[in-house]
Amino acid sequence: MIHGKNNIGFSLSAKGDVSFQTFSPITLEQLPEKFVQATTDELEEAVQKAVSAYSVYKKKSGKERAAFLRAIADEIEAIGSELIERACAESGLPEGRITGERGRTTNQLRMFAKVLEDGDWVEASIDPAMPDRKPLPRTDIRKMLQPVGPVVVFTASNFPLAFSTAGGDTASALAAGNPVIVKSHPYHPGTNELVSGAIIKAAQKTGMPDGVFSSLNAADFTIGQALVLHPKVKSVAFTGSFNGGKSLYDLAQTRKEPIPVFAEMGSVNPVLLLPGKIKENTAGLAATIASSINLGAGQFCTNPGVLVALKGEETEAFKSELTANVAKLMPEKMLHQNIISNYEQKTKSFFENGLVSKLAESENEPVQLTGKPVVAIVKGSDFVQHPDLAEEIFGPFSLLIECDGKAELEAVMAAFDGQLTASVYCTAADVEAYSSAIEIVQEVVGRLIFNGVPTGVEVGYSMQHGGPFPASTDGRFTSVGVDAIKRFVRPVAFQDAPDAYLPDELKDANPLGIWRRVDGKLTKDVINR
Ligand code: NAP
Repeated sequence: MIHGKNNIGFSLSAKGDVSFQTFSPITLEQLPEKFVQATTDELEEAVQKAVSAYSVYKKKSGKERAAFLRAIADEIEAIGSELIERACAESGLPEGRITGERGRTTNQLRMFAKVLEDGDWVEASIDPAMPDRKPLPRTDIRKMLQPVGPVVVFTASNFPLAFSTAGGDTASALAAGNPVIVKSHPYHPGTNELVSGAIIKAAQKTGMPDGVFSSLNAADFTIGQALVLHPKVKSVAFTGSFNGGKSLYDLAQTRKEPIPVFAEMGSVNPVLLLPGKIKENTAGLAATIASSINLGAGQFCTNPGVLVALKGEETEAFKSELTANVAKLMPEKMLHQNIISNYEQKTKSFFENGLVSKLAESENEPVQLTGKPVVAIVKGSDFVQHPDLAEEIFGPFSLLIECDGKAELEAVMAAFDGQLTASVYCTAADVEAYSSAIEIVQEVVGRLIFNGVPTGVEVGYSMQHGGPFPASTDGRFTSVGVDAIKRFVRPVAFQDAPDAYLPDELKDANPLGIWRRVDGKLTKDVINR
């Protein structure tokens, strides 16, 4: 039963008089439940509870926090079909996709639990004292990562579970030892409520403090902006559009104490199609690219929004195959009326500049909130003059840039802004012939993919999901995988601290048995002083 209230720590609260309903892309009607927008008093209460919780939560051991994260995963699974049905109803995404996303969400939580149990993630480093060093003795310096304080999480519409309430941002911020306040997404507030309930249950079962997690509803920007401006909030994670991420980033810089906003934003993920590879399997490649463009109605930050190829007979054959494949694509359901209106308006106005033309489109007429797949084409020389043509159009859209020769190809690759990914379809001979174009694009991406589509992001130790601006506000970090935790920590060094004061991770006896860098060498040895 959906209650529509806010989670202020362990308490449910609905003091406001503004409420909203959410829309179902399946019934094309508002869902009946009303969600009460948080008031500024409730926001204040959530932040104060997070501040109090921080002093307790940061001292919980890695094993205790791991138990909390595992309990969240268990509680999410325990909701069962109600969660799947609600997420499907609010997003219009098919059951298989939502079930997969739930698995990704719980796996992610358990992955961070394992990282905490291993304990090495704190990057403990010890330079023991050298009292006899000449000409000056060396003091004892020990350093490790510690949490920063309350983190605010903004969630994306297109991943109601995996980039939402208990998604990678929340999981990594909690793992690092920070309380989290989620600004729920108005496109899936019921899903948020169910998952928030699971997090609260898990916190209570594992003895976590009241305030370690809160979730606030809002139908407009006021609550989100007030959270970013609140002096006790120490960091912000955002997944969504460029406009949203950049405006929250700018807002955070107006504070007396500016704070980081780790915004993962849109991307067009250029796919470079080199001639040898096209020739090898033209039809197969065209089919792969067409289906990646339409996957999830193109509503992925890793959608292949730009294709790049060299003029020539291989590309001509590829264009014909791509056109035939795109013509057959079935328009898929999009998330919301606003998203489809935006998509329709942008795919229409895109052709008004006279530089681009339509290469391919689905022959199946879109019905009921579905987005028609479209591929446009532009000359490389025109693109170099107008690189803004590569702005993200959120939906099943892609732009093929056709380049006249290697020099133009390199100029096109150099014209891209920061991207989450770039893909290179190539043979060994292609890599040799076009290595400079590949190296140019490597400079602006977080992940370089060989012979694979950008859609599909593995969660693990080596993933980088974040690229130079404007793909992310800080390309040094990732929002997916183990290293996502590094966004919500800061290093602290202890100089000549008594052993009893030091955190376990830095104590002489290494009671946690973790890997530490002692005088630059990784070891689990104890320190004798
Ligand atoms: P969105 O419209 O930017 O919304 C994200 C959240 O931020 C919502 O809760 C929204 O509130 C809030 N928000 C947006 N602008 C704001 C502002 N100026 N002040 C305060 N709050 C603001 O994005 P979306 O539609 O949810 O997600 C789709 C976009 O996300 C696409 O561009 C996609 O490429 C990108 N995306 C990126 C990644 C990645 O990892 N890089 C992953 C998934 C999606 P309201 O809903 O109340 O407007």
